[in-house]
Amino acid sequence: MTGNHIQKKRQKSCILILGSWLLALNFKQMKQIILVTMTSILLLSSCNQEKKAATPSIENFKYTVDQFADIEILRYRVPGFESLSLQQKELIYYLTEAALLGRDILYDQNNKHNLAVRRTLEAVYVNYRGDRHSEEFAHLITYLKQVWMGNGIHHHYSTDKFTPHFSAAFFAQTVKSIDASKLPLLEGETADALIAKLTPVIFNPDLYAKRVNQADEVDLIASSANNYYEGVTQAEAEDFYNAMKDPKDKTPVSYGLNSKLVKENNRLIEKTYKVGGMYGAAIEKIVFCLEKAATLAENEAQAAVIRSLIDFYRSGDLRTYDEYSIKWVEDLASTVDFVNGFTETYGDALGIKASWESVVNFKDIEATKRTEIISANAQWFEDNAPVDRKYKKESVTGVSAKVITAAIIAGDCYPATPIGINLPNANWIRAAHGSKSVTIENFTEAYDQASLGNGFSEEFIWSDTERELSKKYGSLTNNLHTDLHECLGHGSGKLLPGVSKDDLKAYASTIEETRADLFGLYYIADPKMMELGLLPNAEAFKAEYYKFMMNGLMTQLTRIKEGKDIEESHMRNRQLIARWVYENGANDNVVELKAKDGKTYVVINDYRKLRELFGKLLFEIQHITSTGDLKAAREMVEKYAVKVDQKLHREVLERYALLNLAPYRGFVNPVYTPVVDKNGKITGVNISYKENYVEQHLRYSKDYATLPVYN
Ligand code: ZN
Repeated sequence: MTGNHIQKKRQKSCILILGSWLLALNFKQMKQIILVTMTSILLLSSCNQEKKAATPSIENFKYTVDQFADIEILRYRVPGFESLSLQQKELIYYLTEAALLGRDILYDQNNKHNLAVRRTLEAVYVNYRGDRHSEEFAHLITYLKQVWMGNGIHHHYSTDKFTPHFSAAFFAQTVKSIDASKLPLLEGETADALIAKLTPVIFNPDLYAKRVNQADEVDLIASSANNYYEGVTQAEAEDFYNAMKDPKDKTPVSYGLNSKLVKENNRLIEKTYKVGGMYGAAIEKIVFCLEKAATLAENEAQAAVIRSLIDFYRSGDLRTYDEYSIKWVEDLASTVDFVNGFTETYGDALGIKASWESVVNFKDIEATKRTEIISANAQWFEDNAPVDRKYKKESVTGVSAKVITAAIIAGDCYPATPIGINLPNANWIRAAHGSKSVTIENFTEAYDQASLGNGFSEEFIWSDTERELSKKYGSLTNNLHTDLHECLGHGSGKLLPGVSKDDLKAYASTIEETRADLFGLYYIADPKMMELGLLPNAEAFKAEYYKFMMNGLMTQLTRIKEGKDIEESHMRNRQLIARWVYENGANDNVVELKAKDGKTYVVINDYRKLRELFGKLLFEIQHITSTGDLKAAREMVEKYAVKVDQKLHREVLERYALLNLAPYRGFVNPVYTPVVDKNGKITGVNISYKENYVEQHLRYSKDYATLPVYN
């Protein structure tokens, strides 16, 4: 097979344009990720004729929707939706409803005042009859847009609290000017009391300063503004969960994943997220939609996945969650798939509590061939990895991977979204049952398309040689790196007996992401890529190497405020790798930071040696992971990943500012509307891309308000 078929963009199918509101049906989504077989390919081709009509083409599609603060909002296309069967579309529709119904949960998890802040500002936005063109009102709108982007009062990425540029007096004046019935008042609460309550929450920079504090040596719970713990110290929480762990338990549940830990009458108790428990009002509606979805499942295995998730939402029992996760990871035949639930633990500095998220998707058949090739060769990659023999898996099980087209994102995947997903997270399930891995290609398409011609590569890339490489192979190799990271990297290697990923504590995510990235970097330059038809020649990988080094050494700093350290795990991981190979290759001049006309550029002098360095670092990182060496992890992360070269940082920020680009991006979702005949039967589901950012959030707040202001 040649590399060509992979580069070829698949035929995009059409998308019908319909406006629409969904009534807030409750659906819950299931998560599943798909590895589809020939069956679905056949299924798709049978309804091919319908496709060609409506998907907007890449060229004609307007990707950028909005820009404010440090954020650019894009929309994404959902090619292939029209070619799904009616039943699949209906299934997706109910799953997207189940996704949107969880929106309020995440706001409350991020900070207990978030729903009150959001609803108050939205009430002002909709009802304020004063001067809507004043500068202060413009600042209030920007702040509200930031709150939507961060699912609360903190930045989605840095987790720093937003700084409002309107005054507390203006806030009070606008709130008081509108009808009190429009405000999210508690029983007996006045507008004045609401203002008094929210003013410090919005305006005092020291209160709730950071959503997730990762800084070493302080109480991570007391210093984090999220809502996963209340009245509990870090030591108490750690003791509480350590006491639950049985070292002999080979199949431990994810203790504490779906609850808030509070102290009541001097005792620690978990408030479990479930029907009848915390967030029950939202979860009930999600379950309603999931029940609908279960009747539309593509096959019995998928129906069982959905029913199992429903059981979990009803009982809150983490054993059931594991049963569900196993069914989910083993369902590889369905085309439609989803994640819906308390999933990732990045929002908790202790890595115990999971934030709510949802992604509904269906398999991109053409592009998935690429990841199927990778998965089919998983054992070869494991056997040949540059890591110590004793840390290798004898047999790599169940590495499944696919490229998906996202249909909707919600909760912690929205508006900012991952471009790849690898689940489940429980180690023993991954070891015994494998994991599902996906690359979300309609998002990377939107990113790539929105970036064309914005001046970034002209400013930061060293020469036309690298720019040409990037233009030719940038998307292909970037997607391939993501595939290798997700389908092989995270699934590779093993821990020594008695070692747990938690042993690395606050460094665990950074080290894990480093490991997965290095696995991808090492292999993307391997001749095996050409042998497998994944890359067209021995030059293509350089596009990804250059981009990775430029990003890790320099350009990702555009996302960090001057004077700040790097905190987010993926950013730490990238700088860790880039700095480590830069320093360790210095004697051979492998990578240089070169000045030209007073500007700094990354120059790669020796791509082959760079690859060797990636391999060497992977060897070390795998050793740290497999042995749970906290001291080494801390040294590695603190030395390479956290601190920023201040002078270079300032330069990058200045050059970047001149481009007037936003360093972060988020998305708006398309709108799905069922077409119903006169007997109430759904005869189709239409998709529209017309909604803008403000319209979308106001509609979501209206139609998917599932929780009280405080929970
Ligand atoms: Zn990862």
